[in-house]
Amino acid sequence: MKKIAVLLLLLSIFLTSCGNVAPKKTEIFAMDTFMQLQVWGDETLLSEATARIYELESAFSVTRENSELFLLNQKGRGALSAHGTSLLSQAIVLSERSEGAFDPTVYPFVRAWGFTEQTQGVPSSKTLDALFPFVGTEHVHANENTVTLDEGTMLDFGGIAKGYAAQSCAELLQDAQAALLVLGGNIQTVGTKPDGSDWNIGIADPKNSSQAIAKLRFQGSMAVVTSGGYERFFEENGKQYHHILDPKTGYPVQNELASVTVLAQNGVLADAFSTALFVMGLEKASEFWRASDDFEVVFILNDGSIFATEGAASLLYDCEFTVIER
Ligand code: AMP
Ligand code: MG
Repeated sequence: MKKIAVLLLLLSIFLTSCGNVAPKKTEIFAMDTFMQLQVWGDETLLSEATARIYELESAFSVTRENSELFLLNQKGRGALSAHGTSLLSQAIVLSERSEGAFDPTVYPFVRAWGFTEQTQGVPSSKTLDALFPFVGTEHVHANENTVTLDEGTMLDFGGIAKGYAAQSCAELLQDAQAALLVLGGNIQTVGTKPDGSDWNIGIADPKNSSQAIAKLRFQGSMAVVTSGGYERFFEENGKQYHHILDPKTGYPVQNELASVTVLAQNGVLADAFSTALFVMGLEKASEFWRASDDFEVVFILNDGSIFATEGAASLLYDCEFTVIER
């Protein structure tokens, strides 16, 4: 009996001390956004994860001269790295699954609005009309790592690269005890914290993004990715224009949604679909979710109301919401 009591005491001291283990943290600016990485356990993995993010940034940047994506867009043909090949093939599959709501060939439109340029502005409808023939994944021809783009077609991984980076880092961090990666609107958890407590993830209030409008709590590894018009926009003649474009019109999406948060095991899918579901709007996105089994969603509407699919609803707290049923 005495032995058991001593063992229990030792176990509780051990668990308490584990709980106090602070993660090793770093903050960086990459992929055009602030990122915070925290690792519990094998801390050497933190610098490996940071290096991986910089490596992917220099491969996938659409504006940095000499990035493999920049060169491919410029020359219309090129060889991609193993990461580039993997990301492009996943981007095409997810684009087809979302019936083009997510489309990595949207770049001619993104450029026309100036979202990756120094200055932004509303392009004429004539300018946009002239770009339609270049948009669509049928203009991308990939043969293993060699890619050919039809004349005028250009790729943009802006809607998916952070998800790929998070996914890639999560794989690299498998041997850490736990990790939390905040890559702008992309959050990736890995494992369980030493004290066994839940991950607590806030969903930004689209009207005041430094505050949470809702919170999620759960255990284990998960990608939680938010797309919102509030994340990047400009104003012209008193009207706001944001960076998520409907590939079928060339214009910023205008519907009832202020943000979409996708939860999934796969970070690339979560990122592509956060963009895609925002484009689809609440009703179509809910139907899309009903026909799928590999992600859950929290929708924040422009009026501040919250809708959550069944699986996401079970993780939400500190807010009122309507459940979207199967
Ligand atoms: P996200 O924040 O993940 O929703 O990605 C938005 C970024 O993806 C934009 O800044 C554009 O670079 C690009 N983008 C905009 N609209 C789309 C779209 N419909 N499909 C794919 N990428 C897009
Ligand atoms: Mg995205």
